[in-house]
Amino acid sequence: MVPIQMVDLKRQYLSIKSEVDAAVLAVMENTAFINGPAVQDFSKNLSTFLGIEHVIPCANGTDALQIAMMALGLQPGDEIITPSFTYIATTEVMALLRLKPVFVDVNPDTFCIDPTAIRKAITAKTKAIVPVHLYGQSAAMEEIMAIAQEFNLFVIEDNAQAIGASIQFSNGQTYMTGTLGDIGCTSFFPSKNLGAFGDGGAIFTKNQALADKIKMIANHGQSKRYYHDLVGCNSRLDSMQAAILNIKLKHLDAYNQARRNVAEQYNNAFANHPKITTPITAKNNTHVFHQYTLKLDGVDREGLVNYLSSQQIPAMIYYPVPAHRQEMFSFLELPEVDLPITDWLTERVVSLPIHTEMDNEQIDYITTHVLHFINK
Ligand SMILES: *Cc1c(COP(=O)(O)O)cnc(C)c1O
Repeated sequence: MVPIQMVDLKRQYLSIKSEVDAAVLAVMENTAFINGPAVQDFSKNLSTFLGIEHVIPCANGTDALQIAMMALGLQPGDEIITPSFTYIATTEVMALLRLKPVFVDVNPDTFCIDPTAIRKAITAKTKAIVPVHLYGQSAAMEEIMAIAQEFNLFVIEDNAQAIGASIQFSNGQTYMTGTLGDIGCTSFFPSKNLGAFGDGGAIFTKNQALADKIKMIANHGQSKRYYHDLVGCNSRLDSMQAAILNIKLKHLDAYNQARRNVAEQYNNAFANHPKITTPITAKNNTHVFHQYTLKLDGVDREGLVNYLSSQQIPAMIYYPVPAHRQEMFSFLELPEVDLPITDWLTERVVSLPIHTEMDNEQIDYITTHVLHFINK
């Protein structure tokens, strides 16, 4: 059996090696390493794929979030409603900009921010909502957009884990995640569903003025070289990464389908087990399974992870400490929050390997060992 990894980047590379190698060589020949034609092409191709007017590439997903918050003019002390049950980058950038993250609970079935909790957290200082499409599935965007409209709030979607996912609204329209809010942000970290061979990120918007501002902020606050109107940063996607992403983007739908197939096999193997809850795909959602995450009930989770590791099966806890319990925010002196579902999930989730190259032998081996430990 091929050794199991959380993500098998090597086997995926080998399957597209000739295309990728040629594209990287072309960048080396061309030597436009920064902002070369590959970057423009990728921006256009991703814009077409998502069906959104403006895609501004940047250095990574964390920068994308920071630049989005800067572009919307959010000011120190502004309150941003966001889940605590997410990767730290989502809320770290808020602290960096001295914004106030207002952590709210998630839906225990979808792992995504709970619209009812958003409504309860709104105050006169609330300026934005930052939903996260966690593990590859859209947050409840129809409800979230309605709340944002009612209270005149910005929405920044953290789409780092869900590129290619979509959600159908009650009007019958289907939307790609990341294209619904004022701004969508994504990451091309190698293990993401659309991963580069290094760091990368992008920011999406429908709004021309916002797009112009985002481009300026990502480029030292200039629109004309050496004339700096805004305080910005230096956040670029390099041409080699763009060239690789251009190739991988063509395969993204197939990659996401491969992940859904793995998830379905896992779901079948664990179906109706009294101690295992398999991840649901919410009605009208197309899940892209960045992670395949089980909820365990009455299982020694650490024992399971250690047992799997002894059988050469990696398994991960995403995430062992929710944001509202992280030391980094203590300087903001945020009020105490009670997030029972977030805490409950933090104790019970475990993510199994899922990627585009998994074969049946590997999946059977994993499910057999998970069930062996849990049933013993
Ligand atoms: C990966 C990730 C990010 C950050 O992306 P980087 O490219 O690593 O900076 C932000 N939010 C979520 C939910 C992520 O999974």
